[in-house]
Amino acid sequence: MTLDKRNLYRLPWSMNDNAIAWLELTDVCNLYCEGCYRQKITGHKPLEQVKEEIRFFKRWRNPDNVSIAGGEPLIYPHILDVVAYVAELKMKPIILTNALALTPELLKELKKARLSGFTIHIDSHQNRPHWKGKTEKELNELRQLYADMIAAARGLYVIFNSTVYPSTYHEIPDVVRWGRENIDKVHGLVFITYRAGVAETSVAVSADNKIVDLTKLSYVRDRFDERFVTAPEVYQIIRDNFPEYDASCYLGGTLKHDSFKWLAAAWFGTKKKVFGSAGKRTMELAQVGHHLFTGTYLAYLSNAKVGAKVFLGGIVDPSLRKAGRSWLRHVFSHPAQLLDPVYVQSIGIIQAPDILPDGRADMCDSCPDMTVWDGKLVNSCRMDEYRLFGGMVNVLDKSRLAQEAIVPSSGPSQN
Ligand code: SF4
Repeated sequence: MTLDKRNLYRLPWSMNDNAIAWLELTDVCNLYCEGCYRQKITGHKPLEQVKEEIRFFKRWRNPDNVSIAGGEPLIYPHILDVVAYVAELKMKPIILTNALALTPELLKELKKARLSGFTIHIDSHQNRPHWKGKTEKELNELRQLYADMIAAARGLYVIFNSTVYPSTYHEIPDVVRWGRENIDKVHGLVFITYRAGVAETSVAVSADNKIVDLTKLSYVRDRFDERFVTAPEVYQIIRDNFPEYDASCYLGGTLKHDSFKWLAAAWFGTKKKVFGSAGKRTMELAQVGHHLFTGTYLAYLSNAKVGAKVFLGGIVDPSLRKAGRSWLRHVFSHPAQLLDPVYVQSIGIIQAPDILPDGRADMCDSCPDMTVWDGKLVNSCRMDEYRLFGGMVNVLDKSRLAQEAIVPSSGPSQN
C-alpha cells in the first residue's frame, strides 16, 4: 500500500498556532545517544531565562503542551519549578527524558507540581549503563519498568520514542507489539528516523558564505555507508505486521512535496485486541474540535481510556466504522469481553531533516519542535548550528563543490 496525502489529514499546525512548544532547560546530559542533536556548550539555563522562554511560547506559539527537554531535563536543578510554572500558565508540561534519573519519589514530586506526562527515549544506540548491546526487543523490559512505574503514579501519560537506524529498522514490530500489549499504560510510540551529516563527503557553508568545521556538530559522522530509513518505510513495516494500523495525518516537508515528515496514527483496542485505526476525518474533528473549545490544537490526549463509544465516530469516518465493526464482531464471539475498556494509542513517525543535493535541508513543514534561541523561534534539531555558527549551515557534497567551482570564502565562520 502506498501512502497518499489525499487520504491523510494535513495537521493544521503553524509557527504561531502549534500544539507543541519545545523548551530546553540545559544542554547537560547523563547519557550518550547516537542520534542526539545537542552537545554541552553552555550548561544549565538560569531559571529566570527559562520562565521568560515559557512566557514567550505562551505569547507566540499558543501551545497545548510544552515539551520540556534538554540535554536531560530531570537533572536540571529547578525542574519542579519549571513544571509548576508551565502548568500555572495553563499549558500541559511534558518531560522528554531518557528516564535514567527517574525514581518513584521524583515522580511523586513532579505529579504534585502538576506534570501531565512523559516522553521517554529508549533505544539500542544509547550508551545506557547495564543495557549496552541489547536489542530493541530486550529493551522492552526497560520500557515496561518505566511504564509500570508511571502507571502506578496514576493520572500521568507516557509515550516511548526511539531513534530508528538502518540496523534496527527491522526490530520496529517488536516495539509496536510490546506497545500494543500495554495499550492500557502506554499512550503512544514514536519512531524517529536517524539522520546525520557526513564529514567525509560534505562541506558546510555558513549563511555568510564561509566554510565551517562540520565536525563540531554532534550529528555529523566521519562516514556513513548505510542508507537512511524513510518514514514511508517505517509505515510499511508496521502495516505489514499489524494490518489494523493505518496512518491518518501528516506534516510534509518544507522543500519536497512528497515528503512525509510527521506521520501519525491512532489505533483503538482493549488489552486483548486492537480493532483498527482512526481515519483522517477523526483527526480533523479532534483538531478542529479541540481548537474550537479550548483555543489550542491537540498533541496528547490526557485520557487514553476512550471507551467503545469512540466507534460512534464511524458515522463520519469510514476507518473508524471498520474498527467499530471489528469490535462488534469480537464482542459477539467473546461476550464476556463486552465491558473491557477500549483505549486509544498513537503511533508517530518522524523523518528528521534530509539534506538535498543543493545543500538545503528538507525540514518538517510547520515544525512542532521549535524552540527559542536569541529571541527567535528555531528548529530545535538545528539549534547547535545557531549556537556554533550563528545560523543554519548549507551542507554541500564535496565533489559538487569542486565540479561547479562554488567558492565560499575561506576560513571558519564565527566559531
Ligand atoms: S524540523 Fe522540527 S520537527 Fe522536524 S526533526 Fe527538526 S525539530 Fe523535529
